[in-house]
Amino acid sequence: MKKKLLIVIGLVILAVAARMLGNVPAIQDMLVERGTTAVARQSATPQSVSESLNVYVCGSASPLGMGRAQACIAILTPEHFYLIDSGAGSTDNINRLRLPTSRLQGLLLTHFHSDHIAEIYEVNLGSWVNGRPEPLKVYGPTGVEEIVEAVNAGYRLDRIYRVGHHGADLLAPETGVLQHRILNSGSTIEDGDLKITAYSAEHPPIEPAVGYRIEYRGRSVVVSGDSNVTDLTKQAVDGADLLLHDALSLPVVNTLATSFREAGLARQAKIITDVIDYHASTDTLVTLAQESNVGMVAYYHLVPVPPSAIVADMFLRGAPDNIVLTEDLMWFELPVGSRDIVVHEP
Ligand SMILES: [Zn+2]
Ligand SMILES: [Zn+2]
Repeated sequence: MKKKLLIVIGLVILAVAARMLGNVPAIQDMLVERGTTAVARQSATPQSVSESLNVYVCGSASPLGMGRAQACIAILTPEHFYLIDSGAGSTDNINRLRLPTSRLQGLLLTHFHSDHIAEIYEVNLGSWVNGRPEPLKVYGPTGVEEIVEAVNAGYRLDRIYRVGHHGADLLAPETGVLQHRILNSGSTIEDGDLKITAYSAEHPPIEPAVGYRIEYRGRSVVVSGDSNVTDLTKQAVDGADLLLHDALSLPVVNTLATSFREAGLARQAKIITDVIDYHASTDTLVTLAQESNVGMVAYYHLVPVPPSAIVADMFLRGAPDNIVLTEDLMWFELPVGSRDIVVHEP
């Protein structure tokens, strides 16, 4: 007993001493110098990218919920880097994952709801500052031209300030201006071994909205954007290794709507009920996983974001083993020449 007491007293003394030392300027300077050296060395070391199709969850949230970034998926191979959507908070996750933004080639938008486009300019700015050599191309269905024109206009002064401050040699003015290309259903991007095909999503009344199928050296991933499960979804996932799909838990959403109604919050209850129309419910995704030959289904753009492990479990009710629930910073590795999917937890 006496020994335990002495240990506790010793630990308290150590904690107090560490706290006091932390207040000494010379010690603070030394610790910060060590930290900045580590950060600089890490930044100077390019992240190694395996001979795989790599898929990163940079945003797994829908507008219903807090604490996570909104829709954003990164597609990375040794030669390619594309983002699909750029919801609020996603740039922070791109940086945490240390994704090589200096070689970002394109941002693919699925549609123009705010939770998919909020950080277009942050993505543009981050990759521009990091030395992206070409203007960033923003792809998307008809309407993308209006979005890109508005972002370019809205941040014109920001670009002028930054070029004026850092100099045109460091920040070439022309590479800070976004370009656009319309990709409607059936349109493709062919980029070496990578092929991206847009397909129609069902997200009424948003029209057009698309999802994307990405193929790379025999591996494939489909990213839904916001959509119900339709025959076009079934066609898009045929033979695909991995499907990332928006997912709505009907039991959770219905309970939430009832609670709001009973609390007299009719507006909130109506909005939550409306959301059911245009997102795939988990039961339809379970059926898709069982009736298609897709290798793995990963739920993202979660409606709502699970606030607890119990709600997370509700998303996976009745789900077969090849369905997973994503969270921010999770990533999937699809090695070339294999059928494996390696799931990396955050
Ligand atoms: Zn949407
Ligand atoms: Zn959305």
